[in-house]
Amino acid sequence: MLSIKNLHARIEDNGQEIIKGLDLEIPAGQVHAIMGPNGSGKSTLSYVLAGKPDYEVTEGSVELNGEDLLELEADERAAKGVFLAFQYPLEIPGVGTMTFLKAALNAQRRTRGEPEMQTPDFMKMVRQHAGDLGINQDMLKRALNVGFSGGEKKRAEILQMSLLQPKLGILDETDSGLDIDALKVVSEGVNRLRGGDRSFLVITHYQRLLNYIKPDVVHVMSKGRIVRSGGPELALELEANGYAEYGEAA
Ligand code: ADP
Ligand code: MG
Ligand code: MG
Repeated sequence: MLSIKNLHARIEDNGQEIIKGLDLEIPAGQVHAIMGPNGSGKSTLSYVLAGKPDYEVTEGSVELNGEDLLELEADERAAKGVFLAFQYPLEIPGVGTMTFLKAALNAQRRTRGEPEMQTPDFMKMVRQHAGDLGINQDMLKRALNVGFSGGEKKRAEILQMSLLQPKLGILDETDSGLDIDALKVVSEGVNRLRGGDRSFLVITHYQRLLNYIKPDVVHVMSKGRIVRSGGPELALELEANGYAEYGEAA
């Protein structure tokens, strides 16, 4: 399980504190959603959890299954099972999707001290995961994300997540909104992977993603803290009433 206690984090460049005493516990196997006004620090929280270097933790603790994550570099966190799906997927011209996925998987294995996976085994594994997720093999032959539709980018990301089998999957969705195809890809991928001891943190400004991924708990984040928690019905209430009471103009 993920346990965050009194987390304070600031932007390294300008020293501005963004996360201001945040507490959050996600038990193993649960899906928690964080909603909240723009600028409340949702994306910053996901970067801090993943270990992005531009942020500095000044106070508090983050543990995953009893292990201190804050001591670890981003790649070590990934090896321990932290996966952050990017809000704006990178386009990498000249790097095939397969090459990228194999590099991501082998980086995880190297950091864990496991032998790298060789191409034939990897191909077999990718084909199986892609098949399970309904992903067209042709997409895998193209350069990563280049010319991909919104739905295809999400498919590549969900496939990466499926291959890496995270303990904690963090999804930070774009506020501009995914099209319905992309929304379904993300939610089906998460729903397929949820359960067991795998936890998810799903960050969204809008309620509609949560029609597809039914969260166990919904949290409201405002000004760098969790200010309210409840069941899935809280998301519907936020959708109806907006975030005015949490510091955003309606
Ligand atoms: P949310 O995802 O909830 O919309 P963010 O975490 O993106 O919120 O941003 C919270 C605040 O931190 C915003 O005021 C944003 O401008 C600021 N911020 C985040 N990262 C940086 C950065 N690297 N440099 C400068 N300001 C940043
Ligand atoms: Mg934002
Ligand atoms: Mg954001």
